[in-house]
Amino acid sequence: MSVTDPILRVALPLPLPRLFDYRAPGTEAATQDWIGRRVRVPFGPRELVGVVAEVGPAEDGTHELREILACLDDAPLLHGELADSLRWLSRYTHAPLGEVLATALPAALRRGEPLPDTHAWAWRLTEAGATHLPALRAGTRPRRFADLVQAAGLHGEDALDVAMDDWRTAARALAKRGIVERVAIPASQLAPTPQPGPTPNDEQAAVIETIRAAQSGACTGFMPLLLDGVTGSGKTEVYLQAIADCLARGRQALVLVPEIGLTPQALARFRARLGVPVHALHSGLNDNERARVWAAAWRGEARVIVGTRSAIFVPLPQAGLIVVDEEHDASYKQQDGIRYHARDFALVRGKALDVPVLLGSATPSLESLHNANAGRYAHLRLTRRAGNAQAPRVRVLDVRKRPLDAGLSVELLEAIRDTVDRGGQALVFKNRRGYAPVLLCHDCGWSAHCHRCSTPEHNSPMTVHAGGRRLQCHHCGARQAVPKACPDCASLALQPQGNGTERIEETLARVFADVPVVRVDRGSTRRKDALERHFDTLGDRPGILIGTQMLAKGHDLPNLTLVAVVGIDEGLFSADFRAGEKLAQLLIQVSGRAGRAEKPGEVWLQTHHPEHPLLQTLIHGGYHAFAEQELAQREAAGFPPFAHLALLRAEAKHADAPMMFLREAKQAFADADQTITDQTIAIHGPLPAPMPKRAGMHRAQLLVSSNERRQLHRLLDSALPVLYASPEARKVRWSLDVDPVDLY
Ligand code: ADP
Ligand code: ZN
Ligand code: ZN
Repeated sequence: MSVTDPILRVALPLPLPRLFDYRAPGTEAATQDWIGRRVRVPFGPRELVGVVAEVGPAEDGTHELREILACLDDAPLLHGELADSLRWLSRYTHAPLGEVLATALPAALRRGEPLPDTHAWAWRLTEAGATHLPALRAGTRPRRFADLVQAAGLHGEDALDVAMDDWRTAARALAKRGIVERVAIPASQLAPTPQPGPTPNDEQAAVIETIRAAQSGACTGFMPLLLDGVTGSGKTEVYLQAIADCLARGRQALVLVPEIGLTPQALARFRARLGVPVHALHSGLNDNERARVWAAAWRGEARVIVGTRSAIFVPLPQAGLIVVDEEHDASYKQQDGIRYHARDFALVRGKALDVPVLLGSATPSLESLHNANAGRYAHLRLTRRAGNAQAPRVRVLDVRKRPLDAGLSVELLEAIRDTVDRGGQALVFKNRRGYAPVLLCHDCGWSAHCHRCSTPEHNSPMTVHAGGRRLQCHHCGARQAVPKACPDCASLALQPQGNGTERIEETLARVFADVPVVRVDRGSTRRKDALERHFDTLGDRPGILIGTQMLAKGHDLPNLTLVAVVGIDEGLFSADFRAGEKLAQLLIQVSGRAGRAEKPGEVWLQTHHPEHPLLQTLIHGGYHAFAEQELAQREAAGFPPFAHLALLRAEAKHADAPMMFLREAKQAFADADQTITDQTIAIHGPLPAPMPKRAGMHRAQLLVSSNERRQLHRLLDSALPVLYASPEARKVRWSLDVDPVDLY
């Protein structure tokens, strides 16, 4: 090979903002064909899997370059729109391309495993079966199965799941007799057999028409649409219609749902209504399953993909529509590694793919409302509940000076009693899991705190769990037994203070011994299917659910008529500028659980601050009145969406290291700022993080804000190389978060 031969530039999953040069193996030439293929390369003493990002002329010292060990793909895996969008994401998050690509690929592909097979399974009659069929006794399950299969010609397993309970037993029996057989086919070969939904009401019909116009290209292809509809207004019906249209045009649809929104109930609804296989992509799948869905999307076989945050990285060679359900949900923001926002990236991809992006929520984020107000998004409203369901009645219960039992007032307990006596279900919402948030010594004032998460200035309390027997830190996971006596004064008067979901459960189980009392929080739902099983335990019987925000959405509970919200008062006085927005969204979402079906619902808000402006605005004006006020305040204070933020975080075992690194970073920003003429940048800090120590690591942060997004990115572009090169950087773990959602 000569020195002038082109070389391959490979993106490797390393925290270094550059590509790595290699020669093509053996006598092969480094052509453009390589771009987007995975390769195995030597790296120091290791081997890594990367993706060829560029082919370019050799620079000096080419002869010293190492050769690629193997090419892993017959065809480029990352190409076209997805490759371009991921490059954009790398620039926007200021993260190395190799790390972005590694984040986008399913783990099995990242490790270098081949793209898996992705056929679907279907059943058909054998030749012999066709003659045998009339002989099968009518009315039996095998006969029903055989009839279904015959009618369809080729019946997909997904659709069978919808059409017949436990069809597998019948299928096995018939297969043994040679009457039916199971065949592998490309999923796209299965014709849709959709089930009709309810007739859209006027509001829905208008919205569906707008989306249809957007899809049919009467307008341009890309179009952001904000579907702003109260809970139960039939947003999901609108998605289903839009997806059906998309499928009818032979295109793929991607639906993002929040972490806990992807219940088996929701998937079943999608499968039944769309009549095509629906590929689910979520954290409950193993690596193989995830890679299969990704591959099926890559081949264009997966027509509908429904998934959580990382599903935004599936290839969509025949894209027609992207839906982001509950677009305000915080789970769309990745909080470590590549800190992308799946909703924001969905808009970027939608634009690149030239397809409509439908953002839905009953409580849209202030960012999206701001965009709608500015005319950048089409604002579609659904103001009424669909069908016969009515909006719940909300009442505020002032509990100042009232006696409370585990934080519950007498009036509230009576209301719950009423509800269950009438055969309904009640939900008690409390945003604190565990038994009690604090363990306090009544004699000397000592309280249990986590040593790994506390500093002399900042105590991080441990939460009491297991009915008062165990202490647990919700930040680092540390656990220990509750001490028998106070470590400071040896007193035995240790008392759990305050109430968590466990203690409320204990109290309610005692007061309502006659009905099931089910607790749903992260402590009680570690197992994959635990959430569904909790709901199954309750069924439609009268009973009580207690839970954290996990209960704010997901499984539909038609018999739920009372929602009681307790202990939201801490949220009313938080320093986080997003706290108000989060609380308002949570209150509306939880309230929306009440009265979803024919039965009217009621919401009780128990508080010590009934006059608080947030509650007043929310109750009398609704979410939009709140949002309008909040947006005005954000504008006045120069917060997002009126300013753009980037948060530089650093942490280290050594207390001084993060501050040293961030001071250097601040200097780098200041130096870079000189070169940027327009003075639109503000730098705050460095300061200890709101939680200054966590899991033994000292934490600090530096906040950069600008009212111009472009300026912010130019600043980051010029300062980051300095940070990567800094010796101080090696003493800390640091990360950059563009558009941080959480300033903690
Ligand atoms: P959202 O997603 O806005 O919470 P859904 O689409 O889940 O609302 O609809 C709420 C309930 O109302 C569901 O049970 C749904 O089947 C029903 N529904 C939706 N649209 C209609 C309609 N046009 N007529 C009758 N029922 C409807
Ligand atoms: Zn004590
Ligand atoms: Zn801790």
